[in-house]
Amino acid sequence: MNWREIIETMERIGRERNAPVYQKDLSNEFEVLVSALLSTRTRDEQTHRAVERLFSVVKGPEDLLKLSEEEIEELIKPVGFHKVKARNLKRIAEIIVRDYEGKVPEEFDELLKLPGVGRKVANIVLAHMGKPAIAVDTHVHRIANRLGLVKTKKPEETEEELKKIVPKELWGKLNKAFVGFGQTVCKPLKPMCNDCPFKSFCEYFKNLKEK
Ligand code: SF4
Repeated sequence: MNWREIIETMERIGRERNAPVYQKDLSNEFEVLVSALLSTRTRDEQTHRAVERLFSVVKGPEDLLKLSEEEIEELIKPVGFHKVKARNLKRIAEIIVRDYEGKVPEEFDELLKLPGVGRKVANIVLAHMGKPAIAVDTHVHRIANRLGLVKTKKPEETEEELKKIVPKELWGKLNKAFVGFGQTVCKPLKPMCNDCPFKSFCEYFKNLKEK
């Protein structure tokens, strides 16, 4: 299988199985940034619920500024670290409105300066903007290693290795495809290997059979 086939197969499976990542189409960069921030150290289902609640009252950074930190906390409550995240969201909205005319910055280094934004979140936003970026979260890190596409210990190493082997035009699609596949088939616990189209070359599956 080549990279295009792997990514398209994962996309198809994620959509067919209604993976949470496909349940809300985030329409703009601000929603993508906020959603990625809320997702850190939080289960996908909880992130999904928090994103829905928040965006039922907030359409952009200006709306977020009208809310108090406590009101933001209430809206995002299902997510982990909601107090810190509410504070960061409020500060991010202030910075975006003050320094970027209400628009999400488009450079990696600028994104990293926003409170609470790390490599993964910055890459998710850039990929959404159509810029070449690979966002490595726990799904991407786990699945790439299980399949034997990389052999790495940390997400940053996975990002570096994937950039060497994935054609650049596919970088932006990789995260969503892997996340949807990880939410539905190659789950953290008990992956559904018997239903998986990649088992013929998957290292994890090979090792399972040898045990
Ligand atoms: S065979 Fe199993 S471990 Fe390997 S990618 Fe498929 S679901 Fe994941």
